[in-house]
Amino acid sequence: MHRRPIQHCRECGQPATYRLPADGDTKPRAICTVCQTVHYENPLNVVGTVPAWGENGEQVLLCLRNIEPRKGKWTLPAGFMELQETTVEGALRETIEEAGAQIEMGPLFTLMSVPRVGQVHMYYRARLLSTEFDPGIETIEARLFTEEQIPWDEIAFHTVRDTLKHYFADRKRGSFGFHHFDLV
Ligand code: ZN
Repeated sequence: MHRRPIQHCRECGQPATYRLPADGDTKPRAICTVCQTVHYENPLNVVGTVPAWGENGEQVLLCLRNIEPRKGKWTLPAGFMELQETTVEGALRETIEEAGAQIEMGPLFTLMSVPRVGQVHMYYRARLLSTEFDPGIETIEARLFTEEQIPWDEIAFHTVRDTLKHYFADRKRGSFGFHHFDLV
């Protein structure tokens, strides 16, 4: 999802326009036409989990999205990190909000830059403590899938699909690693 351009100054509310700042900066920035405040925009962090169930983590929890974008598609529990929280806290919060799942957080599993939309996505492995889910309003349904059951053509985001591919490949190998790559 692309972010909308900044149209108004966050300091004084007057119109802002995109141009090169005078200080030698090489990228156009939203600059206030009145107070000249330069508004820098930086990537947002998306944090989530791969909640697994079973002796060998053979099932993974997916959520059917009830909100745009990609309403009606399946995703891992994830969302935008909030201010004043850590990546682990954010991933845990999103898992509770979207799936109502009880989990024990595991290690960081994937870290992906998505420069096209100005985002960084990270997923932690997690162990489900029960199979009782209580999805929030952002989720139509939360349920477990084995690798064979995953609806690969109905996955909401490339970062989720790639994270799931790595998860099941690592599981097959019997050893989970850490995967850092870019989606361009
Ligand atoms: Zn201003």
